[in-house]
Amino acid sequence: MSEPAPKAAADLERFPVGEMIGTVVENTAVNDGYNHLVLDAPRGAATAKAGQFFHLLCPPTGEHTPFLRRPMSIYRIDRGQGRLEFLYKIVGGGTKALATLKAGDGLNIFGPLGVGFTLEDGWKHVLMVARGVGLATLAPLAELAAERDVRVTAILSARSPEFMMSEEYLRSVGAKVITVNDADGTSNVDDVERTVRGIVEAEGVDLLATCGSNRLLLMLQCLAREYGIAGQVALEQLMGCGIGMCFVCVLPFRTPDGLAYRRVCKDGPVFPIEEALSW
Ligand SMILES: Cc1cc2nc3c(=O)[nH]c(=O)nc-3n(C[C@H](O)[C@H](O)[C@H](O)COP(=O)(O)OP(=O)(O)OC[C@H]3O[C@@H](n4cnc5c(N)ncnc54)[C@H](O)[C@@H]3O)c2cc1C
Repeated sequence: MSEPAPKAAADLERFPVGEMIGTVVENTAVNDGYNHLVLDAPRGAATAKAGQFFHLLCPPTGEHTPFLRRPMSIYRIDRGQGRLEFLYKIVGGGTKALATLKAGDGLNIFGPLGVGFTLEDGWKHVLMVARGVGLATLAPLAELAAERDVRVTAILSARSPEFMMSEEYLRSVGAKVITVNDADGTSNVDDVERTVRGIVEAEGVDLLATCGSNRLLLMLQCLAREYGIAGQVALEQLMGCGIGMCFVCVLPFRTPDGLAYRRVCKDGPVFPIEEALSW
């Protein structure tokens, strides 16, 4: 897929968000519960950033007619081929309907939406700690870091080895990957904390990034404060419009001036780790 022409590229910079029809390239099961969706969507791929999401209009099926769009983090942005990838857990009507899509089908998507991850100049090492579907959200951060020559260590946590996703992909973009799981007890928060402390003290870390677990969030908030390291968390919250109008996804955040109420869709979904309240 060719790059947009210069004028079109300038237009996309001014108006990055749009409604578009992506063509399904692949929609396959990665394990018992998660699907990998690849869409041909050059306009979306040109403007999407790590940590942002798209709002997907799941197709009607005989069983389900999802009315509201469903938010889905971008798992991979392939600008060269003009493709967007999503890794989704099949949980209810919308995602069951998504799972019925076949190669060649069209899917109405709206985005890219929200505020994604930020990498500051001079940062050299990002430590990501992700669990479950959080792996999907953090994956593009590894790719962004690789583009900027920032080293990545990723601790991936899952119920059992078969639910461990993105391991090869993260290694392919140069991340050092450590896997832990509930089945062998290695995902215990105390053990993960010991691992994080070891990495911080031995190698230095500039950013702690997390998604997908309340207990890991709380642990990383403490460590970010203790070691004086920046942290970012990608939050998930039920949402309606996805563009800040309906206020369905408002959550309280801790700020120096007390509690502040923010929209996960528009002010996030990525927030400074110290501001997030546990859920
Ligand atoms: C910014 C953002 C990014 C997301 N990225 C991903 C992703 O990359 N991969 C993925 O698998 N899921 C992701 N989600 C969650 C995904 O949007 C929901 O799982 C999906 O909307 C469920 O729709 P459904 O119709 O299948 O299920 P429903 O029938 O609507 O719900 C099934 C269950 O999921 C819960 N649920 C529904 N929507 C959400 C939501 N938005 N957040 C948390 N729980 C929800 C419901 O409370 C219910 O228990 C993301 C959510 C947000 C807000």
